[in-house]
Amino acid sequence: MDEFELLDPWSIEMLAPIVVAGEGPMACPGCAAVTGFSAGGRWGDLVRMRCRCGRDWLPFEDDPELSRELMKELIIAAQSEDRPG
Ligand SMILES: [Zn+2]
Repeated sequence: MDEFELLDPWSIEMLAPIVVAGEGPMACPGCAAVTGFSAGGRWGDLVRMRCRCGRDWLPFEDDPELSRELMKELIIAAQSEDRPG
């Protein structure tokens, strides 16, 4: 899965809120924003989030499987945006 490794750990821009079924949109623990995060991590890692306010945190710490799934989804989405055409 080397092709999915991100060299810049904060290269994924989150433009839309992340909504988890039954929980509502994920919010920054620092300023309660729900958009404008950058996501970081590599394939198989827990997802990390960084807000414009400077706060970074690990969402879904109590659900590592969900966190890893989210990281993979973000990486796939970022890769397909980068691909020309
Ligand atoms: Zn914030």
